[in-house]
Amino acid sequence: MLRRVLMAVSASDRMEKIVTTAPIARDVVARFVAGATQDDALGVTRQLLDRGLLVTLDYLGEHTTDPDQAAAVADEYISLLGRLSGGGHARLGAAEVSVKPTAVGLGLGEHGEKTATENITRICVAAREAGTTVTLDMEEHDLVEPVLRMLHELREDFPDLGCVIQSYLRRSEADCAALAAAGSRVRLCKGAYGAPEQVAFTSRREIDLSYVRCLKTLLAGPGYPMLATHDPRLIEIAGAQAILAGRPVDSFEYQMLYGIRPAEQRRLAATGARVRVYVPYGSDWYGYLVRRLAERPANLGFFLRSLASKR
Ligand SMILES: Cc1cc2nc3c(=O)[nH]c(=O)nc-3n(C[C@H](O)[C@H](O)[C@H](O)COP(=O)(O)OP(=O)(O)OC[C@H]3O[C@@H](n4cnc5c(N)ncnc54)[C@H](O)[C@@H]3O)c2cc1C
Repeated sequence: MLRRVLMAVSASDRMEKIVTTAPIARDVVARFVAGATQDDALGVTRQLLDRGLLVTLDYLGEHTTDPDQAAAVADEYISLLGRLSGGGHARLGAAEVSVKPTAVGLGLGEHGEKTATENITRICVAAREAGTTVTLDMEEHDLVEPVLRMLHELREDFPDLGCVIQSYLRRSEADCAALAAAGSRVRLCKGAYGAPEQVAFTSRREIDLSYVRCLKTLLAGPGYPMLATHDPRLIEIAGAQAILAGRPVDSFEYQMLYGIRPAEQRRLAATGARVRVYVPYGSDWYGYLVRRLAERPANLGFFLRSLASKR
């Protein structure tokens, strides 16, 4: 219920204006977002790399409404990737980027898919030159088909382009089976958007069981699974399944969000596992923040307390 209210709030322009212009939001944003600029993002990236973690960088923004803005988002990624290859840190190239298809044009009407494909192609070329990879985030459920279509087309030229499967969708087990191919980089997460019962599981238990089925499918195949969750039970199950599947520790990775369970990120990395942190940066943080609040009522408490303490 609370989650549904927050997801509705995330779509309200008026609420966005109130929250983003309030100075009180800053503390909460700083917990989940690296900062507004590339320098902020690269600073956090260096710190995480120094702690033995891997990074995927996300330039915040989604549902771009004009082609010039979509191209500008792609330009930002290209400039960022240029700095990853020449950033003066031996391992900066170990950072990759995550891209939201609607930020680069998917959703711009009948030409949206073409625009997004062109922009993602430019980002993939820059990533290849920087010696790193791109992962396409997954957004609302009605975008799964166009995103997977783009993925298949783009993988002909960029086989290391990664994608995301959300275990809350009923279709996802079949998608995992289809995607568990050699070299295929697939991030598995629970899913952070609202979706109707016809297409999505709605109980935590069903979503978790689906996650386990999907992770077994991915780990049993020859691809490269990226298991994105902070859920302690699922992390434990993933580790056990990887051993059962005879997987070397460098043949899959765990992923978590910046600011969430950082001690667990370091603990897992210390066991020799590959752990990648998803680091968002930029000023368009509203939609991202609301999804993080919706995931966990305790975060909402943190947000409200910071509101009260600044008054
Ligand atoms: C690297 C990464 C990339 C992602 N990419 C996508 C994507 O492309 N598309 C998409 O729909 N979703 C994406 N997500 C979000 C994901 O779908 C979930 O909404 C989110 O990860 C919360 O689910 P969980 O698996 O951590 O489990 P939950 O059951 O939500 O949480 C398990 C435990 O983790 C901790 N925790 C979880 N969330 C929070 C939080 N916000 N604040 C503090 N503690 C928390 C708590 O201890 C909680 O008990 C991504 C997540 C990660 C980690």
